[in-house]
Amino acid sequence: MGEQLTGLVIRTQSGFFTVDTLQGPIVCQLRGRLKEEYQETDLVAIGDRVTVERLETGADTVGGVIVAVAERERVLSRVAPRSAVGTSKEREQVIIANPDQAIFVFAAAQPGPHLRMLDRFLVAAEKAAIPAIRICVNKIDLVPDLAATRALFAEYERIGYPVLYVSAKTGVGIAALHDVLVGKISVFTGPSGVGKTSLLNAIEPDLGRRVSAVSTATTKGRHTTRYSEMVPLADGGYVADTPGIRAISPWDVEPHELDGYYIEIAPLVADCKFPDCTHTHEPGCAVRAAVERGAVSAERYDSYLRLREMLEEEYVY
Ligand code: GDP
Ligand code: ZN
Repeated sequence: MGEQLTGLVIRTQSGFFTVDTLQGPIVCQLRGRLKEEYQETDLVAIGDRVTVERLETGADTVGGVIVAVAERERVLSRVAPRSAVGTSKEREQVIIANPDQAIFVFAAAQPGPHLRMLDRFLVAAEKAAIPAIRICVNKIDLVPDLAATRALFAEYERIGYPVLYVSAKTGVGIAALHDVLVGKISVFTGPSGVGKTSLLNAIEPDLGRRVSAVSTATTKGRHTTRYSEMVPLADGGYVADTPGIRAISPWDVEPHELDGYYIEIAPLVADCKFPDCTHTHEPGCAVRAAVERGAVSAERYDSYLRLREMLEEEYVY
C-alpha cells in the first residue's frame, strides 16, 4: 500500500482531481469503491479535503488515488437540471466545498451596480451559510462623487455586509482587498466587465489572468467536461470564479424559505401574526411594519417581493 497523505482539492476535470498536499500538487483519481454507489451529490469538488494514497508512477501522470473525503462544512451548490442527469431525482452539483468567504464585485460605474443581482448572490451565499460575505465596489476612480456611490451601498453595510471601495486603476483599496483574501478560500465573483480580472492582477501579477482562464475554459468546454479550479495566492489562500459560481442564483430556494436569507428580514419573521406569513399582504406582518418605520429598506423589501414572485413562478410546473 502506498503512502497516505491529506490535501485540498484545487482542480477537477473529468474524473481527474488535483490535490494540493505538503508534497505539492498530485493528480488523482477516485478509488473505485468510492464511485460505485449512486450519489446525490458530487463526491469530490474543489475545496474538499481528502486523503490520498500515492501511486508509484511518474509525476506527470496520475500520482495518487483519493481514498477518503472529509465531511464538508458547507457547500455552494446548485441543483442539476433533471434532463442533464437523466433521472427524475434531483442531484446536487457542488460548485465549491467549504468556501470561507464570498466577495461579490460590482463597479461604481461602467457598468453601474445591479443591486437586484447583488441581492440574488447574497441569498445564494446565505443559503450556503458562507461565513463571511463581502461586497467590493470597483472603479471608484470613475465617479466624481463617491458619497453617492457610498449611499447606494450604505444599506448593505448597515445590515452587516462589509463593503470595500476600490480601484484597480489607481490602486486605492487594493492592499485591503489583498488582506481580506489571504489565507482563505474565496468565491470572488460578479458580472463581467466590473474589473475582477484587473483587481486580481493588481493584487498579484497574473492572478487575474489565471482565474479568468479557468472561467473561459469552462465556458467553451463541452457540457460533459466539467472543469473547475481555484487559484492559489502567493501569500496563501485560494480564489475561485468559475461560470458555475457566476450562475449561482437562488432557484432551488423554496419561496417560503426566502425570508430566511434576507438577513435583516429573517429575525422579524417570528413576530408576524401568522406563522406562514408571506409578508406580502397579511395583517399583523412584522416585516411590513418594519418597512413602514424604516427599519427594513423599501428597496430590499421590494427586492424580496420580486424574487419571491419569481421563485413562485418557478415552482409552478
Ligand atoms: P472582468 O470581466 O470583471 O474580469 O473585468 P476586467 O478586469 O476585464 O475589466 C473590464 C474593463 O474595466 C477593462 O477595460 C478594464 O481596464 C476596466 N477596469 C477595471 N478596473 C478598473 C478601474 O478600477 N477603473 C477603471 N476606470 N476601469 C477599470
Ligand atoms: Zn410577515
